[in-house]
Amino acid sequence: PKSPIGRIVDPLTGVASFSRYAGARKFYELPLSKRTKNGLEESGFKEMTDIQVASLPHALCGRDVLGAAKTGSGKTLAFVIPVLEKLHRERWGPEDGVGSIIISPTRELACQLFDVLRVVGKHHTFSAGLLIGGRKGVDTEKEKVNELNILVCTPGRLLQHMDETPNFDCSQLQSFLAREQVLVLDEADRILDIGFKKTLNAIVSQLPKRRQTMLFSATQTKSVQDLARLSLKDPEYLSVHEEA
Ligand code: ADP
Ligand code: MG
Repeated sequence: PKSPIGRIVDPLTGVASFSRYAGARKFYELPLSKRTKNGLEESGFKEMTDIQVASLPHALCGRDVLGAAKTGSGKTLAFVIPVLEKLHRERWGPEDGVGSIIISPTRELACQLFDVLRVVGKHHTFSAGLLIGGRKGVDTEKEKVNELNILVCTPGRLLQHMDETPNFDCSQLQSFLAREQVLVLDEADRILDIGFKKTLNAIVSQLPKRRQTMLFSATQTKSVQDLARLSLKDPEYLSVHEEA
């Protein structure tokens, strides 16, 4: 494997290390915070699935990741865990605003993944919000978005906030200390299938260039690869297929 990005280090040893965790099959073998470990344990998660084994050591080192694995293979934890760990390591607090944006193709999927975040992240103290279309109260939402650390959103609603919400400026994030935002595109193939390509491009263009991006999909289509080319930096391409 390539040498790891030096910025994110093993909290136990202070050394940036990918290879140390490359063979890990169980969550407790990974360099995770106690809060995340407890959340996983209490939810009954012990053994990692293949896509989690393949991607978590990279994602936890701060690398951009394009992960492809079929539906039901456990992609949600493959990005929820790195999001929690990154904010935890960077000591993200209530006044620091948006540290991570997770984009999901549909309201239903956004709700499901918000539940996973809530359960696995229950010992963390970050604020998280679900920004999805079709709900009343976009104005109330506007007063709150700037206080949220983790946004779980559908593309249209996120762009609406970027366009309309005063002071909702994600591009400021990069200036503060060495902090780096995390962008996740879940079910990227479906986001593109639904016709959100333009919306996604508009969103990505408003985000800081210096960030960690994780893109997950069930299939590796041409448009997913195009999206990866546009939004990922020197990514790890991780594809997990069933054995025949
Ligand atoms: P995908 O996004 O790839 O379709 P999900 O993240 O929704 O898959 O996970 C599918 C199911 O597998 C969920 O019910 C989830 O709780 C379960 N799951 C995920 N990771 C693990 C794991 N490491 N051990 C046991 N079950 C898991
Ligand atoms: Mg999924």
